Amino acid sequence: MSKIAEEVGDCQRCALGKDRNMPVLGEGPLDALLMFVGEGPGADEDVQGKPFVGKAGQLLDRILKAAEISREEIYITNVVKCRPPGNRVPAIEEIVVCQKFLEAQIAIINPSIIVCLGNTPAKWILGTTEGITKLRGRWFSWRGIDVMPMFHPSYLLRNESRKKDSPKALTWQDIQEVRKRLDDARLRRSR
Ligand code: SF4
Repeated sequence: MSKIAEEVGDCQRCALGKDRNMPVLGEGPLDALLMFVGEGPGADEDVQGKPFVGKAGQLLDRILKAAEISREEIYITNVVKCRPPGNRVPAIEEIVVCQKFLEAQIAIINPSIIVCLGNTPAKWILGTTEGITKLRGRWFSWRGIDVMPMFHPSYLLRNESRKKDSPKALTWQDIQEVRKRLDDARLRRSR
């Protein structure tokens, strides 16, 4: 992983490298059973060089805590490692040139479960054009890894309702499913 960090640190393979402050490789234990993949760093992440530290990250922390999943036991990263200006969706050509880093991270960590936060990682991993509203809450198998798409926390910040079938209520269901699958994976590892 340190080799990947070195390469990402100097990377100018796509236009996003030009305007970034710091690339954000990701963080977490290299033997994590559970990996979260978001879209790309935001403004706070770009300044700190760490993933999910802004408002969306703080909401993610609260979701994890409520589900009794420790952030310290998961590996968190993004599809692109440099901040898209104005938090726009990364362009397909940026994703294509950056994907070798995410591929390498997944190969090193070899998680049992990947949670895709939002459209961009869900579409990249599942190779689908379906949107997150249709994909979320369903389990997929990808290269032997269980994959669960969920709403991105920044989307939840824009949709405050907790009513039945609201994005927040659905996310609560989804994280419970992830927690159950994580418990199974922990059990398998302990045997
Ligand atoms: S987004 Fe990825 S490919 Fe583009 S400059 Fe950053 S690390 Fe390199």
